[in-house]
Amino acid sequence: QELPADPIMENTRRQVPHACFSYVTPKKTTAPSLIHASKETAALLGITSADIISDDFLQVFTGNSILPETNPYAMCYGGHQFGNWAGQLGDGRAINLTTIRHKNQSYSLQLKGAGETPYSRTADGLAVLRSSIREYLCSEAMHHLGISTTRALSLCLSGDKVLRDMLYDGNPAYEKGAIVCRVAPSFLRFGSYEIFASRQDTHTLQALVDYTIKHHFPSINPTAPDAYLQFFQQVCNTTLQMIIDWQRVGFVHGVMNTDNMSILGLTIDYGPYGWLEGYDPQWTPNTTDRQFKRYRYGNQPHIGLWNLLQLANALYPLIQDAKPLEAILNGYKDTFESTYLQMMKAKIGLFEKAPEDLQLIEHLEETLQLAETDMTIFFRNLSSLTKNHSLTSKEIIPQYIKEAIYNPDTLSPEVINSWTTWITSYLNRLQKEPLSDSERKKKMDAVNPKYVLRNYMAQLAIEAADKGDYSLIEEFYTLLKNPYKTQPDSQKWFAKRPEWARHKAGCSMLSCSS
Ligand code: AMP
Ligand code: MG
Ligand code: MG
Repeated sequence: QELPADPIMENTRRQVPHACFSYVTPKKTTAPSLIHASKETAALLGITSADIISDDFLQVFTGNSILPETNPYAMCYGGHQFGNWAGQLGDGRAINLTTIRHKNQSYSLQLKGAGETPYSRTADGLAVLRSSIREYLCSEAMHHLGISTTRALSLCLSGDKVLRDMLYDGNPAYEKGAIVCRVAPSFLRFGSYEIFASRQDTHTLQALVDYTIKHHFPSINPTAPDAYLQFFQQVCNTTLQMIIDWQRVGFVHGVMNTDNMSILGLTIDYGPYGWLEGYDPQWTPNTTDRQFKRYRYGNQPHIGLWNLLQLANALYPLIQDAKPLEAILNGYKDTFESTYLQMMKAKIGLFEKAPEDLQLIEHLEETLQLAETDMTIFFRNLSSLTKNHSLTSKEIIPQYIKEAIYNPDTLSPEVINSWTTWITSYLNRLQKEPLSDSERKKKMDAVNPKYVLRNYMAQLAIEAADKGDYSLIEEFYTLLKNPYKTQPDSQKWFAKRPEWARHKAGCSMLSCSS
């Protein structure tokens, strides 16, 4: 091993100094069973469809048998949680099985929910079925949306019961335990570096950064005098692109703590995430963040920067010069603004440059918030508006746009006025675009997904799965493999959230670790 390991080889909870990881043994499960596996992720690893249905697969990916010549481990990391330094966190319920090299790319395989590790603190190291379904479906959906993310290989039941909540009558509400195997080139996070900086362990910090550059940043010459700055710059770039993509599709991560920020700019840790239904920059699905809404949709770009600042602080002992780090962080701000504008313009089909573009986007963002308007439906439908569309008095707001509004028949004159003003400026602006209507539609439909894992859809899949019916997991898995393509018979998932789901727990309200 190239990185320092914890010399103690047992799963008991403890502080682990001077080590990047601890060897652990996954917990044996009582009656494991496979619910679903991703053939796409399996293919990355060279695992075939026949392998997936084998008993070996089941035993390995529920932690019951350890592959020969592998040494499972949990990683040590710290993190800033909700803006405060939280000290050692680490893989409290994730166990890395091994790293597989296939077609010139390495992948770490990690079980989530396979029992306690030195980093489990006060929790049990387990995961329940509902949160595992959410991680499994959403991480694969994000990949197919073209967004950088960890992948999911398998979703299994452990056969064990897990306790999360008490019922109102004081009795325990046991839930089905589950294990997801997730896959990524690396699970290193900002917090992996912060922990050693906070412990003033520059030696281990440097070993880890050197290791990271060597294995995961092949374009950086490790002997270059500015190798660490290049490293930081690249992390800023990939983080920025990931957050731009989140904003593009209306994904709200929910817990952007620095321990949930991948050093590779992958979306990681699918906990209390959610998807915007009505376009609302103030919205967060995380009920434990309802007061300050630190991780609300509209704040994600800023939090990305704040987290990168924490990473810069952690790397400082290796660089010893704040100026270039600050310059890179300032670059993030500027690049974010211009990239965001480009992204929003692409969403509404504008590819030429015009002086009114920024204002047009800002006016749109304001108008979208005046009356609850479904983000996914709005942008997807907008591509059907034609350049020569004329606003007749009968149809003040085009039908395409009305379809996205939750209560289209009770709009105030202010809202109607804002929409007609916006559409008029938009149609004017479209005249400056050389693309034909159909060419523009094609480009818009490639950045505006038709299907996302709406919060209530995940909840429907969970409720059915809890009763042993996995058909919705399969249906959504298949649907979300082609999120930009209209699929036969799938209009029902291109629809506004039903009213029953508005305030229902699980559909719009979630808390952190389950
Ligand atoms: P999260 O909010 O999911 O990023 O988790 C924060 C920290 O709590 C991480 O160190 C997790 O490994 C740990 N954690 C979350 N859930 C559990 C659990 N059920 N058992 C042990 N550790 C957990
Ligand atoms: Mg986490
Ligand atoms: Mg989590």
